[in-house]
Amino acid sequence: MDLRAGPIAIAGAGIAGLTAALALAQRGFQVRLFERSDRLEEVGAGLQLSPNATRLLDRLGVLSILKPIAVRAEAVEIRSARTLGRLASVPLGEKAVRRWGRPI
Ligand SMILES: Cc1cc2nc3c(=O)[nH]c(=O)nc-3n(C[C@H](O)[C@H](O)[C@H](O)COP(=O)(O)OP(=O)(O)OC[C@H]3O[C@@H](n4cnc5c(N)ncnc54)[C@H](O)[C@@H]3O)c2cc1C
Repeated sequence: MDLRAGPIAIAGAGIAGLTAALALAQRGFQVRLFERSDRLEEVGAGLQLSPNATRLLDRLGVLSILKPIAVRAEAVEIRSARTLGRLASVPLGEKAVRRWGRPI
């Protein structure tokens, strides 16, 4: 079956739907993206992107658009809910780029 013959329908313009649509469109497929919500809006306070996600966004040409409006965290700290004492810390920033090849 030649998938390039007709458009591919994708239901949902979330991260998965938008990523699939971009990836398919870059490979020459026609894509029709359907979203049931009237408008796309943020849910929650922010989105932390791991290196596997930023690697894909880079390949799709989206990372350079996000970089100016994103904040690069220097570390993830796990703290005690009772004392707020630090239990563990995972360094991010440049260390994450060196370790995983892309920013987190
Ligand atoms: C509060 C909160 C904080 C989070 N923080 C993080 C984070 O920091 N880092 C991280 O990586 N992940 C985070 N996540 C998880 C992340 O948001 C989800 O894993 C991701 O959004 C899932 O993407 P998705 O495209 O699969 O689904 P969704 O984002 O849910 O998108 C699905 C879309 O499909 C639409 N849809 C559904 N059915 C139909 C239909 N029949 N026809 C048309 N449209 C339809 C919906 O309206 C929706 O827009 C968080 C989630 C929440 C709730």
